[in-house]
Amino acid sequence: MAILVCGHKNPDTDTVASAIAAADLYSKRGMEAKPVTQGEIAPESAFVLERFGFSAPEIVSDATDQKVILVDHTDISQTMDNLSKGELLAVVDHHKLGDVTTPNPLEMWVWPVGCTGTVLKSMYEFYGIEIPSNIAGILLCAILSDTVMFKSVTCTDQDKKAVEDLAKIAGVDDVQALGMEMFKVKSAVDGASANELVFRDYKDFDMSGNKVGIGQLEVVDLSMLDAHKEGLQAEIEKVKADGRHSVFLLLTDIMKEGSEMLIASEDPSVVEKAFGIKPEGSSVWLEGVMSRKKQVAPNFIKAFEG
Ligand code: MG
Ligand code: MG
Ligand code: MG
Repeated sequence: MAILVCGHKNPDTDTVASAIAAADLYSKRGMEAKPVTQGEIAPESAFVLERFGFSAPEIVSDATDQKVILVDHTDISQTMDNLSKGELLAVVDHHKLGDVTTPNPLEMWVWPVGCTGTVLKSMYEFYGIEIPSNIAGILLCAILSDTVMFKSVTCTDQDKKAVEDLAKIAGVDDVQALGMEMFKVKSAVDGASANELVFRDYKDFDMSGNKVGIGQLEVVDLSMLDAHKEGLQAEIEKVKADGRHSVFLLLTDIMKEGSEMLIASEDPSVVEKAFGIKPEGSSVWLEGVMSRKKQVAPNFIKAFEG
């Protein structure tokens, strides 16, 4: 039975591309593996897969009796159901270490870089395995997506170098143009329901015993969301009412390099504690904030502790 390679819930392009690449790499190392996702892929990922000739991985969300490799996460709240009833063999990630544990030793590739794709690119090199050009293409897009085309504070020189090398392998001449094309697809909000938009890139966290959800929409121009804000606010209130202390939705303008954060919270003062800015009504503009992982989640984790 093939090992399942799986990224986090609400799959993003890194989670999907890294699952495909890791399944290829582990299979070539003699461990037959196949990529899966825990749910429908987002429009941006569909665009990327189609561009490089892949179809969407099978959806599998239960790890019972399965051998599993996790990519792009190590949090139980973001992982497959019943992970402890399966066997976790390896992790490839670039986030804070989460709370999954194993009874057995495992392979861990967790680096503080901008994208799991960057770690995988180095793994191919470590094992002396050639990166197929179509996989180079999707890893390249994953890095552009996760680093918001190198603008995110999470971006490292290793990510930039990886993109340069992967572009050559994939035969992509204009990386910026491909990135803009991808972000335009990601920005498309018309026709999507408020619920779809909130959960398009959404993560639940446990913060000092409180369930806190943080979603993010990255757009090339925030005004595209003007007509949607009211509906999005109502939707995050609903999501919060479903057993959460708070739900925050980051509306990130990748050109202006900042985020408007919509707030639904039992205690909105956590926002001021986390960012030192008092929100006006139910939203706040966070200048220079583009990364949930580095600039938002850690601030809230600290605010909830104190
Ligand atoms: Mg991800
Ligand atoms: Mg990632
Ligand atoms: Mg992301």
